[in-house]
Parts: sequence; structure tokens; C-alpha cells
Amino acid sequence: MPRNPKTPAKDFFTGVAWLAGFGLLVLLLWFVALLVIAALIFFGLTAFTNWNLGARIGFSLISAFITMKVLGFISATLDLIPEAWIEGKKKTKPCPECGKNLRAVLAQQCMHCGADWHS
Ligand SMILES: [Zn+2]
Repeated sequence: MPRNPKTPAKDFFTGVAWLAGFGLLVLLLWFVALLVIAALIFFGLTAFTNWNLGARIGFSLISAFITMKVLGFISATLDLIPEAWIEGKKKTKPCPECGKNLRAVLAQQCMHCGADWHS
């Protein structure tokens, strides 16, 4: 018996788990990158200024945060992250005849059952 793809609940929870895990990973990477940049700025300030510790930590954290925001804005503007990574399974839709996934949202023919709705 072939595998039945109609398990919406399971698919849904698998998708949510993936999204949550991915989001957490991105957040963690973002935080680590923030700390690395802050540390670099901190050591730079330590080498080139006579600021007190609090000022150096504060300035390096704020600068790192701004740097990350700017980098995020640039990557969003240049569309560096492929939409497929974010959209996931939403790039397709089911065939109205047999219910299997079409190759594309704009597909006008089903590759599984051969249904054709070209106008
Ligand atoms: Zn079909």
C-alpha cells in the first residue's frame, strides 16, 4: 500500500516544530554574532580609548546591535535568504482532481493524474 500523504495534523505539527527549531537556531546564531561583534568593538575601544569599563561595554553592545540590525536590513533588502527557506511547503497546492501536490502554484496540469485545466 502506497504512503498516504493526507496526514494534515501530523504535517502541521512537524512544520511547527521545524519552524520553532529554525527560529530558535537563528535567534541563537544572531545572539552569538552579536556577542562576537560586541567583543571586537570592546577590545578595539580598550586598545584605543581611555573610557571606563561601563562605557566600553555599553558602547560595544549598542554598536553591535546596530551593526546586526543594519546587516539584517541589507540582507532583507538584497533578498539574500531564498524565499523557499522561509515559505517551505506553501510553494505548492493540491490537485483539484486527485489531491496530490502540484509542481507549482501556477501549474495548470497535474503530473500525477493528468488532469488538465489550461484555459
Ligand atoms: Zn491530480
